[in-house]
Amino acid sequence: MGSDCPTITGVWHPPRSSRAVPSRFTTADGMATVTDAEGEAALATGAVDGLAISARVGAVPRRITFEDGSVFETEDNDAIDRWLGALYGRRAGLVHRLERFHPRLVLFVVLVALLCVGLYRYALPVTVEAAVALTPPAAPRLMSQGVLSSLDKAVLSPSRLEEARRAAITEEFRALAALTPEGADAFELNFREGGIIGPNAFALPDGTIILTDELVRLAQGEDAVLGVLAHEIGHVVHEHSLRRLYRAAGVTALIMFIGGDVGSGVEEVLVQGSGLLTLSYSRAQENEADRYSVELMAKAGREPTGLARLFEVLRDRYDDVSGNDFLSTHPATPDRIEDIRRHAQEVEGR
Ligand SMILES: [Zn+2]
Repeated sequence: MGSDCPTITGVWHPPRSSRAVPSRFTTADGMATVTDAEGEAALATGAVDGLAISARVGAVPRRITFEDGSVFETEDNDAIDRWLGALYGRRAGLVHRLERFHPRLVLFVVLVALLCVGLYRYALPVTVEAAVALTPPAAPRLMSQGVLSSLDKAVLSPSRLEEARRAAITEEFRALAALTPEGADAFELNFREGGIIGPNAFALPDGTIILTDELVRLAQGEDAVLGVLAHEIGHVVHEHSLRRLYRAAGVTALIMFIGGDVGSGVEEVLVQGSGLLTLSYSRAQENEADRYSVELMAKAGREPTGLARLFEVLRDRYDDVSGNDFLSTHPATPDRIEDIRRHAQEVEGR
C-alpha cells in the first residue's frame, strides 16, 4: 500500500522509561508496529490514527508516541515526512493536524494573554463597580474589622500618644465628620503606633480611620493633622477604600485564574492586610480626596491648606520617598501641593 511506511530505524523507549532499545518502525494496513532491531519481537503496536507524531523541528529526532505511552524515536526525519506525505492524500486530517499544531498553540497563548489584559483593564473595573453597588450594608464593617485586626497583629501597635492629645484630636475629628452628610457617627478615629509604616493615615471602607502617632508628632499644628483626616474622610465618602479593597481581591482572583492557584506570597499580602496599604489609590481618587479635604476644612472654619502643609513637612523630612509612610502612597508632588492651594483660594473666594 502506498501509504504504508517503509522500515525506519531508531530507538524505542518503553512507557515511562528512558531505556533506549534499538528498533524498527513500520506500518501495514493502518497499524503501526515497532520491532526489535532484528525485526523479530514486536515491542509496540497501535493504530496509525492513535499515534502522536511530533512536528518537524530542524534535525531534532522525531517522536512517535503510542497509546501505551511507549515512544519510538528516529533521526530519519525525511523518511517520516515521506510517509506522512503519502498518507496525506488519504488522511488529510492527520497531516493537517500536525501542521496546524504549532500556529494553533501560539494563537491560544496570545488569546489567553489578551484575555488577561482585557480582564484586568476592562472587566476588573466593571466588576469592582458592580461589587460596590451590590455590597450589603454590613459587609464594609466586616471587611474593615478583618483588615484592622490583621494589621494589628502584623504591623500596628497600641498608641502611646498622651491621652489628652488623643481626646483633643478626636473631638476635632468628630466636629469635622459632623459636617459630612454621613454624620459624625459614620466615622471612627483610631490611634495606633505605626512602626514600619511610620507617619501614616488611612481609611477602611466602613469609615474606620487609622492615624499613627508618628504622623501626629511630625505634623506642625492640628490643622495639618485634620487636613489629612479630612482627606481620608473623602476617600470613605467617595467609596475609594471599598474599591481599593475589591481591586486587591480582584487582582488576586485574576492571578488565581491565570495561575490556577494563589502563590503563598500573594495570599500572605492579603491576609496581613498590608496589600491594602501598598496598593495606591488612583491619581483621580487622590485629587478628589484632596479637594474634599480643602472643602471640609473650609466648612469647619479651619485652615483649608492643612493637608498641603503636612505634605511639605513630610517632604522636607523625608526627601527621598521610600518605605511605607504616607508619602509612598501619597506622593507630595509640587503640582499636587499647588492644586490644593489653588482649590483653597477658589473655595475661600466663593
Ligand atoms: Zn489619599
